[in-house]
Amino acid sequence: MDFITVKGLIVKETDFNEADKMLTIMTDSMGLLNAKASGIKSLKRKELSGAKPFLYSEFTLSQKGDYYNLREANIIHSFLDIKNDLTDLALGFYILDVLGNIAMEHQSNEPLLRLTLNTLFALNKKTVPASQLKGAYELKICDIEGFTPHTFECMDCGAELEEEPYCYFNVLDGGILCKKCSPGEERTILKISPAALNAINFILDSDIKSFLSFRLDASVINEFGNVCERYFLTQSDFRPKTLDYYKKVIFQP
Ligand SMILES: [Zn+2]
Repeated sequence: MDFITVKGLIVKETDFNEADKMLTIMTDSMGLLNAKASGIKSLKRKELSGAKPFLYSEFTLSQKGDYYNLREANIIHSFLDIKNDLTDLALGFYILDVLGNIAMEHQSNEPLLRLTLNTLFALNKKTVPASQLKGAYELKICDIEGFTPHTFECMDCGAELEEEPYCYFNVLDGGILCKKCSPGEERTILKISPAALNAINFILDSDIKSFLSFRLDASVINEFGNVCERYFLTQSDFRPKTLDYYKKVIFQP
């Protein structure tokens, strides 16, 4: 039997037998990995206390063929303050869901893991408004996965649009269009203001460490969030239930 040590975040846990769980972990060196955590529901197994969502932990696993068993999980960083606020918690589960669906099994993707850790850090500390954080995460994932939209000039005619009062974002083709080149607002073509476009360009221009360091005027937060979400969902073809839940929470009276 071989033992391996990885660092990672739990993206999903499924009940398994009476006392066990099957965990899906996004690891630093092996991408997504499924591991059985025997007896994790028992209070006696303190060596597994780091095996919970919203903890970045070091996991020791035993390996037999393609099967992994969790032996130990030690906390490196806790994001558990996310649980103190229902909106943050719903957004946190959506972020983990996105991570688990974009990452690949046994394929290391450190930029994606670091992006998620930085996003959870900001959510945990409440340094960025939730809707701004969500949009920035969705857009930056597209960027690091190779689906960077064309947003510095009109994707059809090349006109620079910084001085224009508004332009259009084509979420299907992935880029902006000037008034002349766009047929107007459609299901996949959204009108966008210069302030929202500036925020999008800031995120695309920034590295993983600083992509959240921008201010967004309250009047454009919805527009920015809508463009980022629509772009991410269209490009990833992902329809997460955790997003429906997040929306239910934020639209609650
Ligand atoms: Zn044009």
